Amino acid sequence: MKRKQEVHCAVGIDLGTTYSCVAVWQEQHCRVEIIHNDQGNRTTPSFVAFTQNQRLIGDAAKNQASANPQNTVFDAKRLIGRKFSDPTVQDDILLWPFKVVAGVDDRPMITVKYKDQEKQLYAEEVSSMVLTKMRDIAEKYLETPVKDAVITVPAYFNDSQRKATTDAGVIAGLNVMRVMNEPTAAAVAYGLDKRTNFDGERNIFVFDLGGGTFDVSLLTIKGNVFEVKATAGNTHLGGEDFDNRMVKYFVQEFKKKNKVDISGNAKSLRRLRSACERAKRSLSFLVVATIEVDSLFQGIDFSSSINRAKFEEMNMDLFNECMKTVEICLTEAKMDKRSVDDVVLVGGSSRIPKVQELLQDFFNGKELCMSINPDEAVAYGAAVQAALLSEDVKNVPQLVLQDVTPLSLGISALGDIMSVVIPKNTCIPVNKTRSCVTSQDNQTSTLIKVYEGERTRASDNNLLGSFTLSGIPPAPRGSHISNVCFAINENGILTVSANNNVSGVLKAITITNHRDRLSSEEIKKLIQEAEKYHIEDKKFLRKATALNALDDYLYKMRNALKKEDINLKLSSQEIEIIESTISAIANLIDENNQEVEIDVLEDHLKGLKSTMEDILAKTI
Ligand code: AMP
Repeated sequence: MKRKQEVHCAVGIDLGTTYSCVAVWQEQHCRVEIIHNDQGNRTTPSFVAFTQNQRLIGDAAKNQASANPQNTVFDAKRLIGRKFSDPTVQDDILLWPFKVVAGVDDRPMITVKYKDQEKQLYAEEVSSMVLTKMRDIAEKYLETPVKDAVITVPAYFNDSQRKATTDAGVIAGLNVMRVMNEPTAAAVAYGLDKRTNFDGERNIFVFDLGGGTFDVSLLTIKGNVFEVKATAGNTHLGGEDFDNRMVKYFVQEFKKKNKVDISGNAKSLRRLRSACERAKRSLSFLVVATIEVDSLFQGIDFSSSINRAKFEEMNMDLFNECMKTVEICLTEAKMDKRSVDDVVLVGGSSRIPKVQELLQDFFNGKELCMSINPDEAVAYGAAVQAALLSEDVKNVPQLVLQDVTPLSLGISALGDIMSVVIPKNTCIPVNKTRSCVTSQDNQTSTLIKVYEGERTRASDNNLLGSFTLSGIPPAPRGSHISNVCFAINENGILTVSANNNVSGVLKAITITNHRDRLSSEEIKKLIQEAEKYHIEDKKFLRKATALNALDDYLYKMRNALKKEDINLKLSSQEIEIIESTISAIANLIDENNQEVEIDVLEDHLKGLKSTMEDILAKTI
């Protein structure tokens, strides 16, 4: 049985594209506990919905998605840290039932209707709402406030995506202790479970195929040290892409059969997508799955089936892409596949039989490790990391986690050449300095542009930010040296500074907040908004509770009146009081409950109880 003092309140949160999971290290039992939500589920849909009178998060949001598709937001993780014009964002928009428009600085803005008003939300804001839900789930279970959290991200997330995820945590009122790579977290879960059986060094390959992201990591576990050797992936590949293929296939089939196109209808698409996702899951253990959607479009029912072979055929290029990434990771780690001791499967989509078959073939028939729950492993590892980072938690295995940076980082040199300062797969945290000399005579300032990516031409990579280092005294070219220092912290987040040591004067400029990221003012505003939402949600719940209590009372009174011997138990005056009270409450509940203040409802119930209790007692 849980008790407050048995658990520590620093939690691990796996913020997934489709589902999220929260876990905590239990000191007393020396193990991680996955926390179930109010529905009893161990994972919670990363869905947020807006209706005419309330905001819903998690299961409640997902359950009403087909009735309210335009205002039910999911996949915020596919948008986080990306630009509106990003081709992958453009592709996704075509399939999402909710609207996304271009905001300031080409930022994607999710547009919904809430309480009859249009609202624009940043992806960070939607993710923060999911994080708030995960925090609430943990607080309810632990019966204590939760502030500190380790949040996981795909290993292949770039700098902007990591920063945006941290911002989402801050908006949710969390202290983000660490942004941890998902495969590393999964390896911790696997390693902790199996460590006692390991002799010496063990090479673990983590294959993490989730709802919207895919990444792989190669780690070496030696005693308590978990060292990531290399990581590779695609932040835009996962179960939803497989769903999309199936949706497209059935849209065509429906068109052929019924001569109508449902592709512009958000509600029909949402319903078809849910049916496809269910069929896809069944195909992991059945060879044929059926799709049944009543009244899919214009009153036409849709019924069809798909077999495993067809599903595999329509996704084969994506599955092969996954295998290419596996190969890249091994090449970068300079490790032969025969040296891999264990291949660990993580993420819901790793259950797909064809994916498992291809992976097993790639590793020359090696048995894949399926002993850890692919939906929970990441949150499990994050909870261990959260406990490790909390000074007051005892009984945590003293693991040392050594992660790497997923992309090369550098500056643009003369001729738009990418001059790499920190190569990809370098162990983090890391500090590296690069010297630059003036390229022209009498140059007094220099523009430093910071990029991430693997292309030779700097401008083909992702520009993280730029700044000007000025105050250089005029002199012939090549005579003044500036030092540019790149520092990546434990979260994989980069800070760049530069100094020009001229006549003892040191200048340092830091980029921590480039234009892709929310400013501290914007974050402050969003924190206030989040508080406003929280208050509104609480108010809504209080009102719904008050209305339900009145409704219950109404039921009790109606039942009392139905009793056969009511005329013997109550006087005609008392019966009249009950009847008039019933009609007054019914009016209050049915006619105008939007406008009635909560206090009025609660006062009404209080008054009702004091006048009715004695009368009703006689009817028992
Ligand atoms: P995750 O991001 O790890 O929570 O994975 C969620 C994705 O896994 C979703 O796209 C699910 O549809 C997919 N998924 C879950 N279970 C299965 C299954 N049995 N077969 C195929 N895909 C699955």
